[in-house]
Amino acid sequence: MTERAETIEQSRAASPAPVSGFSGADIPAYEDYAHCVHCGLCLNHCPTYKLWGLEADSPRGRIRQIVLVDQGRLPLGDSFVKHIDQCLDCRACETACPSGVEYGKLVEAARAQIEQNYRRPFFSRLARDFVFRGLLPYPRRIAAVARLLSVYQRSGLQSLARSSGILRLLGLADREKLLPPIDREFFFSQLGRTYPAVGARRAQVALFAGCVAQVSFSALHEATIRVLTANGCEVVVPTGQTCCGALAAHAGVRDVARSLARTNLDVFLGGDFDAVITNAAGCGSTLKEYEHLFAAGTPENNKAHEFRKKMRDATEFLADLGLSARLTPLPMRVTYQDSCHLLHGQKVREAPRELLRAIPQLELVEMAMADYCCGSAGSYNVTETETSLALLAEKMKHARATNAQTIVTANPGCLLQMRAGAAIHGTGQEVVHVMELLDRAMGKKS
Ligand code: SF4
Ligand code: SF4
Repeated sequence: MTERAETIEQSRAASPAPVSGFSGADIPAYEDYAHCVHCGLCLNHCPTYKLWGLEADSPRGRIRQIVLVDQGRLPLGDSFVKHIDQCLDCRACETACPSGVEYGKLVEAARAQIEQNYRRPFFSRLARDFVFRGLLPYPRRIAAVARLLSVYQRSGLQSLARSSGILRLLGLADREKLLPPIDREFFFSQLGRTYPAVGARRAQVALFAGCVAQVSFSALHEATIRVLTANGCEVVVPTGQTCCGALAAHAGVRDVARSLARTNLDVFLGGDFDAVITNAAGCGSTLKEYEHLFAAGTPENNKAHEFRKKMRDATEFLADLGLSARLTPLPMRVTYQDSCHLLHGQKVREAPRELLRAIPQLELVEMAMADYCCGSAGSYNVTETETSLALLAEKMKHARATNAQTIVTANPGCLLQMRAGAAIHGTGQEVVHVMELLDRAMGKKS
């Protein structure tokens, strides 16, 4: 602990009244927030600051509020919760920060404090408990809810609900548009399978399959497996793997995130894989940062450290390995939307672009502000729908201006959001994952 941190600790201990508004586990660390020198260089990279122009909704303002609560000078109350909730956790401020402030760690610790020390309204508590504690950790429950949604989507109920105006009456019209289309067959049935490499084996990798992705992105998983095997990778889909815990960690529900992390660490470190691959940047960023969930020196932290060395985004892994499969020309104009948790969370910018440029006759045009959040941000588009849609409107303006027929991204959450954006704003653009486009260039239909 640094000298100043010790002084704060001593003053907390010496004061008759509690100095800090934080208590319990996962307190934002002085060592983390003290790096902020309040220079403000992050402000113009922050989507919520750009939207509202309010210091309290900027990275610097949010860090200041965290400091004030830690010093007992601001209550951990409604105002603090509102500004922390309104943060996308997109981490664009981290990329912009010259002082190396790890903002993601700070905001997630602040949310853990809110989870422990603040009473949210009844229905909010109910919904959060259901999603984070009762649903995401349980694949069977995810499958059951997905089956119900599938009936809603395929029976005509969805069309009826949309055309009758009932969704608008209930205030659910915008949220409903963001529902993922449910697969006819779930990916759960593929757990335990091994897909052999085509030709000489260049690597053996494990595929991380996720939670919701297994009921709504099976086609993407299959395309990813085809691309990996065509490029000489044997792909194992280990059984026993579970949700990565990203949504829980981002929401401050860290006990659940820890429990999921323990399971995944055991499963993926149980095999001698060259790499563990994910096609979901949001998951990848949390999987690579499991170390943040466990105290330094604990066995779990050591495991997380080992795991981090293996964990790779599919684009990052393939760009490093080098494509060996033959690519057929795709004469099309595409633009790439960075996923925040790939670019800002994992610092991967070039790999997806490099793979796209490798496709013959494909023209890649850069979109203005491609590094700016689309508004998906995990569950943000459900909890802060209005803000999410405002960011999406801005994003679609830039996407349309490229005249690209296809928008490519590297994260299922961004795919859903951008597809909804293309539909709402009538841009007529298709939205696909990098793996799906590579799969198409390898002659497969995806
Ligand atoms: S987070 Fe970084 S960029 Fe932002 S005000 Fe603090 S030091 Fe400056
Ligand atoms: S994580 Fe994103 S929304 Fe939150 S303060 Fe940083 S830049 Fe702004």
